Amino acid sequence: MQEQNASLSPLLNPSLNPAAPLELASQKSGKINLLGLSAQQLADFFESLGEKPFHAKQVLKWIHQRHVTSFDDMSDLSKSLRSKLQDVAEVLAPKVILNKPSSDGTHKWLIQTPDGNCVESVFIPEDDRGTLCVSSQVGCMLTCTFCSTGTQGFSRNLASHEIIGQLWIASQKFRVTNVVMMGMGEPLLNFDNVVSSMSLMLDDFAYGLSRRKVTLSTSGVVPEIDHLGQVLPVSLAVSLHAPNNALRDQLVPINRKHPIEVLLAACKKYLIVSPHKDITFEYVMLDHINDTEEHAEELIKLLQYLPSKINLIPFNPYPGAIYQRSSNNRIHRFQRQLSGAGFVCTIRKTRGDDIDAACGQLVGQVKDKTTRQAKHREKVNKQDV
Ligand code: SF4
Repeated sequence: MQEQNASLSPLLNPSLNPAAPLELASQKSGKINLLGLSAQQLADFFESLGEKPFHAKQVLKWIHQRHVTSFDDMSDLSKSLRSKLQDVAEVLAPKVILNKPSSDGTHKWLIQTPDGNCVESVFIPEDDRGTLCVSSQVGCMLTCTFCSTGTQGFSRNLASHEIIGQLWIASQKFRVTNVVMMGMGEPLLNFDNVVSSMSLMLDDFAYGLSRRKVTLSTSGVVPEIDHLGQVLPVSLAVSLHAPNNALRDQLVPINRKHPIEVLLAACKKYLIVSPHKDITFEYVMLDHINDTEEHAEELIKLLQYLPSKINLIPFNPYPGAIYQRSSNNRIHRFQRQLSGAGFVCTIRKTRGDDIDAACGQLVGQVKDKTTRQAKHREKVNKQDV
């Protein structure tokens, strides 16, 4: 229990927060962009100016709850403080270059970063909630073989103002009740900036979401799952996609480094601090690859001792994809097997098809620093011939 209590107090104990050092000033203006600073970082910033740290709470409310970006309009700050802020700081939101609604209510934003890259975020309205899917990296370092982002290579980590900026933009238009770190990138490979941003999502002076309503989805970066549990234990989802190591090595290559048994042990440990009683496992349905009766039986055995929810995701093909979507019959049979074994097993609804916002179709524009994008294009071109 001692371990649990220690793990639940990181927001009160900034020394545990690896995102505590102040973010670098924005390159263009030389000013610090306050949009991405957590409450603790903002308090440190005011202290560095020789001001009282309580101004952090006032400024957080102006920025994140009232969407005010001009210090002139922050009327509960003294004139001299406002003028000081204007000299050294700014509140700069990411640039939206496309703002696209879908016929089913899904909404997509294409965000351009100053270095010419693009990432996407998607809002998915449902009867009882509004979920924003947020990107954490430009591209992805990992190479899951069913994922369109994986084909685009990797450019860089998003800064915390670029991550929280996605929620800042969406919450001006919609009531966002849930956030999933499930867009472009592996969030645990951009740990500090993701933690900093998620701490703003939870902060009562910013977005005030509960830990149950903020979900981080990982492909299985095991050491960082433990780290997240110590620092900011939000809801955890794991992209499993295969019931054995041989198949997972092919679909999710990070499995070669952190195999299933090690991943599940980390999940079990995470449950001690998790806001939920179970872990959500995502399982993309690939025709005749991972969707047989035998695979379902293997999955049942694998997860039988770990409180789990399973979310089946119909695969969304993209140009050059090497897999097909499982038929509805196969997906429903797989679900029946898991439900029959006592698991809560849902099939994710495909939304936003008409704006390419469905899961796995978050195709941004990535200035790839690897050779992956070029190789993928070559492959697609060959298929066209
Ligand atoms: S599934 Fe996630 S971790 Fe894997 S390549 Fe795609 S974005 Fe990266």
